[in-house]
Amino acid sequence: MTGKLSSLPVLHQTLLRQIDSQAAALGLPAYLVGGGVRDILLGQPALDLDIVVEGNAIQLANVLSSKYGGALTIHTKFRTATWQPPEGPPLDLITARRETYRAPATLPDITPSTLANDLARRDFSINTLALRLADSTLVDLHNAQVDLQNGVIRVLHPQSFIDDPTRLYRAVRYEIRYGFTIAPDTLALIPPALPFVERLTAERLRHELDLAFHETCPARVLARMFELGLLNAVLPDVLPWDSDLAKQLDSALAVHPAPEWGLGLTFNGQPLNLVLGYAAWFSGLAQSQITLLHERLTFPLTVLKNAQAVSALLAELPALAGSKPSAWVRHLTDVPLTALYAAHLISGEDAIKRYITDWQHIHPKTDGDALKALGLPPGPRYAEILWQLRAAWLDGEITTPEQEQTLLNSLLNSPMTE
Ligand code: ATP
Repeated sequence: MTGKLSSLPVLHQTLLRQIDSQAAALGLPAYLVGGGVRDILLGQPALDLDIVVEGNAIQLANVLSSKYGGALTIHTKFRTATWQPPEGPPLDLITARRETYRAPATLPDITPSTLANDLARRDFSINTLALRLADSTLVDLHNAQVDLQNGVIRVLHPQSFIDDPTRLYRAVRYEIRYGFTIAPDTLALIPPALPFVERLTAERLRHELDLAFHETCPARVLARMFELGLLNAVLPDVLPWDSDLAKQLDSALAVHPAPEWGLGLTFNGQPLNLVLGYAAWFSGLAQSQITLLHERLTFPLTVLKNAQAVSALLAELPALAGSKPSAWVRHLTDVPLTALYAAHLISGEDAIKRYITDWQHIHPKTDGDALKALGLPPGPRYAEILWQLRAAWLDGEITTPEQEQTLLNSLLNSPMTE
């Protein structure tokens, strides 16, 4: 593979060669476009391989999967297909198209068209580059190379942010990720576009915020969004930002939690950085504010529950300070692990860490079977007795199995407390 494409990993090059040869056989010009080309020119790893075809991309995808295997996902409405080859990254195959917006912030109407029109529908000049697979010719119709060199984010036309206000959030991500600057003309288009954010669906708007947590510096992305009014546009006066919050977010996301927390890369099916990110961001909000945000953005349940749990736990910490271990355990038992982690980072409260490392593992030797064997009739006393034994161990009131036995005998002989 010649020229620019030779900087890609060998497997990527092989896949592009396969696409090139099958597209050529069908007589379809095919191009690598968008973020992939941008990242190749920036000398960064190109993760996204989007292919635009002047012609039927679904036809090409079918040929590729029958010749080389792998799986296809077809989106007939958008005339696109995702080909997951047997080995390597998924590739998006896109029928070159023109987009027209009937109303601001809605999804566009699309018609098959030329490469030039496909590039003209894009968000910023730096995302309009195309590399022709056949000969690695670079197509640059919007001065993208100059903007890449100067580190500038520039929309292609004045209506761009109003047509699609998600681009406001995209601009900030690119600005922070690459250390670029939004061009003055483009910056001036932001304030008049802000009122159109409220027309975005919950899903589209939340997706933009989610993506901030996948960046290297989420706190800087959110800080810049705040500065430009993009957070206020989500819900007026609800989403705060300040330097303390930035530090909290950094500490929650900068390093993976230590092994004792037992957290993996996902939590209940959601990416850990997303769950922790929102939980840290919303930690100082009242429950009613989190509810308002949920009404606007419809978070996945795990994200919502964790954010609510962190905010609730932080509000309760002053009252819990200095409590016995058993009181902490009673309180922390039902709090999700990620919420405990975030609350510990934010508050520095050592009892939360002790709960994770020690207290949660302390249980009496006696269990339900033992109580049954002693002839205790089924009922709420089981839970009460087992808890009292556990609390005594936790609080250091008993330290040996013999003492537990003595306490058990006295509990069995005493009436229920509630
Ligand atoms: P990232 O590295 O963040 O994934 P990307 O450029 O690959 O960046 P995608 O969101 O995968 O971004 O989109 C692929 C391409 O589709 C972009 O490069 C851009 O040209 C175009 N695109 C995506 N979203 C929009 C949008 N809202 N408006 C116009 N063009 C868009």
